[in-house]
Amino acid sequence: TGARTRPPGHPTVALTIAGSDPSGGAGIQADLKTFAALGGYGCAALTGLTAQSTTDVTRVLPVPADMVTAQLETLFADVAVDAVKIGMTTDAAVARAVAAALRQLRAAGRAPYVVLDPVMVSTSGHRLLAPDAEAVLRDELLPLADLVTPNLPEAAVLLGVEQARDDGEAADQARALLKLGARFALVKGGHLDSAESVDHLAGPGLGSGDGSDGVVTLAAPRIPTRNTHGTGCTLSSACVVLRPRHDGWEPAVREAKNYLTEALRAADDLVIGGTGTTPGP
Ligand code: PLP
Repeated sequence: TGARTRPPGHPTVALTIAGSDPSGGAGIQADLKTFAALGGYGCAALTGLTAQSTTDVTRVLPVPADMVTAQLETLFADVAVDAVKIGMTTDAAVARAVAAALRQLRAAGRAPYVVLDPVMVSTSGHRLLAPDAEAVLRDELLPLADLVTPNLPEAAVLLGVEQARDDGEAADQARALLKLGARFALVKGGHLDSAESVDHLAGPGLGSGDGSDGVVTLAAPRIPTRNTHGTGCTLSSACVVLRPRHDGWEPAVREAKNYLTEALRAADDLVIGGTGTTPGP
């Protein structure tokens, strides 16, 4: 299955398992654009639909779990994916279906890189994940993840603790996520009120040099823009599509974060939603 050997230099085949954002800023739309911008070939299996503008989510509809299973089994029977990003999983049944399909893939001896972006609530405050799915994320999807990329509120929910209030606590939570089964954890500090965007990446061999679990700090300038919708989706997709080109997660995550910083710098050139549209000629 997917058995033909690819020629050298072939694009990374990257799959996003996530929800749709019709406004094109987040969800599978952001994931596919990121894959393409970074030279990958994008595949997408949908877990849910949203009705959404650039500023608001008005409705979320899960895809039936057996249809999620059908999408993944049909795809995996044909396509050898190199990299998988899991985004919004919508509800507990869908999250379980995604986990089962990935376990089956691993049992068949296939081991694409897996990044889990544990999407829970949109920036606009709308729930994108049913509350009873949080335990499925923690117990079934996290142990399948080579890298998990929570923001501070998501890390707190996964760990069952208070949200980190400073960089020290964020670093501790990144380390704690490894104990839940993720191989690497990137806790994103964007919700902290600091001049820089500081993320903490924990994993074996990082910062310590002796193979034990350590943490490295990734800092980037905070870009003054209101167009931040979909930054989490973009970062996790960039991490996974770039991973095969690097010999570890740290350099892949660094390149992904640089890509996101440049995308944010360019964001104010875009006039997409709200009252910004100008009448045609
Ligand atoms: N819609 C979908 C389908 C998403 O997956 C996400 C986030 O991951 C969002 C909306 C929310 O994006 P944001 O919180 O950046 O507005």
